[in-house]
Amino acid sequence: MADPILTSVPRLSDLGLSPDRPLVIVDVDEVLGLFMKGFGDYLAGQGYEFRVDRFALFQNIYRPGAADHLPIAEGKILFDGFFATHCGEIEPTPGAVDALAKLGRHAGILILSNAPPQAERLRGAWLKRHGLPNALILNTGPKGPVTAGLVAQTPQPAAFVDDLLPNLDSVAEHAPRVATFQHVADERLRPLAPRSERHPRIDDWAELADAIEAAIRR
Ligand SMILES: [Mg+2]
Repeated sequence: MADPILTSVPRLSDLGLSPDRPLVIVDVDEVLGLFMKGFGDYLAGQGYEFRVDRFALFQNIYRPGAADHLPIAEGKILFDGFFATHCGEIEPTPGAVDALAKLGRHAGILILSNAPPQAERLRGAWLKRHGLPNALILNTGPKGPVTAGLVAQTPQPAAFVDDLLPNLDSVAEHAPRVATFQHVADERLRPLAPRSERHPRIDDWAELADAIEAAIRR
C-alpha cells in the first residue's frame, strides 16, 4: 500500500532524480535568484516604489513619495502580475550557478519554489537559460511536508536551502534528518532578515556549497 504521506508528493524518479544520490533542495527567490531586485525593477516599470527598508514584501510597495504603503490587496495583484509576466527576468544570485554545478557532480538538485502556478513556464525557462538544474516543484505553504515526502524516497543524506525561517523551521520539524541552511541573496535584505541558531546562515554561495557538501558527505 502506498504511504499516504507520499500520495501528493512527486516521485524523485519522475523528476529525473536518482534515490541513490544525496538530495539538495534549493529555493529560488532570494536564494538562486535576486527576487527583490527583479520585483523592484518590475514595480518601478509599473510606476511604483519598492523600498527595502524592512523584511517585508507587500508592506514595502509605495506610490512615489507616499508615506503609507499600498493596500496589501493591490500589492498582491502586482505580485501575481510579476510572476505571470516578468519572473523570468530576475538575475541569478552571484555564485549560485557555479555552486549548483559543483554540487550536482555528487548530488541530485531539486528546485522547490513557492512561486504561484502561473510562474511555472517562465521559471522553468529561467532555470534552463542559466544552466541551472531543471527539476522544479512549485509549492504552496510551508515546505516541510513536501520535503519530508521527497526525502522519504531516498536513504541518502539531504540538504535544504531557503531564505525564510518559517520554511526552514517547517523542514526541521517535518524532516529532521535534513541539513538546513539559510541564505539571503539581496545585500540590502541581509541585515534585516531574521536568523536562527537552528539553521546555519551562509550568504556567500561558494561557502554555502562547501557547507552543503560537508553535510551530505556525512
Ligand atoms: Mg525564497
